[in-house]
Amino acid sequence: MINRKYFLRILWITIWILAAHINILANTYYEGEPKNVKYVFLFIGDGMGHAQVSTTEAYLAALKGNTGFEPLNFSGFPHIGQSTTYANNRLITGSAAAGTALATGKKTNINRISMDPAATVPYETIAEKAKKQGFKVGIVTSVSIDHATPAVFYAHQPDRDMYFEIGIDLINSGFDYFAGGGFLIPDGMWNDQEVNLTTLAAEKGYAVVNSAEAFRNLKPGNGKSLVLSPRTAGGASLPYAIDTHPGDLTLADFTAKGIEMLSGDEGFFMMIEGGKIDWLGHANDAASLVREMIAFSEAVDKALDFYHEYPENTLIIVTSDHETGGLSLGHVATKYETNVELLKYQRSSVEELNKIVAHFRVNQSGDSEEDFNRMLRALEFDLGLHNRKYGTLLDDEEMAVLKELFMTTVMGIGTEKGSYGYSEPFMAKAIEIMNKKAGIAWGTGSHTGVNVPVYAIGTGAERFTGVIDNTDIPKIIGELMGVLSSEF
Ligand SMILES: [Zn+2]
Repeated sequence: MINRKYFLRILWITIWILAAHINILANTYYEGEPKNVKYVFLFIGDGMGHAQVSTTEAYLAALKGNTGFEPLNFSGFPHIGQSTTYANNRLITGSAAAGTALATGKKTNINRISMDPAATVPYETIAEKAKKQGFKVGIVTSVSIDHATPAVFYAHQPDRDMYFEIGIDLINSGFDYFAGGGFLIPDGMWNDQEVNLTTLAAEKGYAVVNSAEAFRNLKPGNGKSLVLSPRTAGGASLPYAIDTHPGDLTLADFTAKGIEMLSGDEGFFMMIEGGKIDWLGHANDAASLVREMIAFSEAVDKALDFYHEYPENTLIIVTSDHETGGLSLGHVATKYETNVELLKYQRSSVEELNKIVAHFRVNQSGDSEEDFNRMLRALEFDLGLHNRKYGTLLDDEEMAVLKELFMTTVMGIGTEKGSYGYSEPFMAKAIEIMNKKAGIAWGTGSHTGVNVPVYAIGTGAERFTGVIDNTDIPKIIGELMGVLSSEF
């Protein structure tokens, strides 16, 4: 069926491409050569493969009662390619090595933060090159600001787990705008003194902002700024999109503020990471993932607004470092059937659902049958395993499997009681059942080695088509910005 909105979107994109080309021709005619790109947005959906995009688009269509795809804003970009992801020493990469490739144009070993495989030589990053050439630089993420993907743009460390040292590198980078969750290791020893990273950042001239009001009041006149989310979830990250409360700051808010802070004649390079798409891939939680993807695309919307104002100088790239979870839009049990709409009934992320399990473990009534029935009601409501349209979704066999897991891993009958932290086997099974009902499967709880999509719009966007290596991405950006040196 023809989707009118989709056609309108294609139409305006076409108009903008034509307008941009006419502009380039005009510039070529008058100035002899095309203008360099002045404003660059590099969006990295951590763990975002093709299936993450397709599943979200199928979900958006299903919400409207349609079969098919409701395109995300970046799916409509005029230039689309794909990128390899493999690391120097492993086919299936990790965020540090993949990020180093995207930031420096060089492959390295797993866990390195913009250093060579032997961890002796720092690799200069596209963000550092841009800064040196007078561009303003912004680094934005939905996870902690010292996590691997943001870190590879401003830090040089042998291991991604050296969070405190990465935080020191952040402060010393002198970059103009940082926005993210918090610091994972905020206190440590530096130059024989005990320091707190937030305090040190303020001493070094950063306007440190960690309330919604201060965020609203933050203006370009405040100079270099470090924005930390007023409310954080596990791992000093922003809450998952599905768990967001009204008034929480979002990745889109951080992106819009970044544009406000960095805009000007100098031009800017801004990296924006949707970091928790990856976490939900690790947890195999599809309903939370599609919401996280939508929040990521809302951040892209802010860049598109800017692009429409400055189409001839702006470049937006939306890509990923690797796929996470081996996500499959299709399930062996449901064969050719899907019911992606079911995902809308889930109200909480795996993180919040695990807290419910932990609550039942420590607040047992003494009647485990009754506890299971109460747990079941929580599952029906928060996971969406019961709803008005479909009734209860659990069949007898699934109910038996869940009960068995509840009795052993939550009530502790027949096994040791204990906390499972990140992963609760009971909830993992319940979410797996929910995903199966929707027709969605996962191949792994880790990363996969497949190529990832690259979407581009703006000046030079056509350079990102075809199959390219992940190391090509910063090289092409550097060329277009005119910040390349012999080192690259
Ligand atoms: Zn990653």
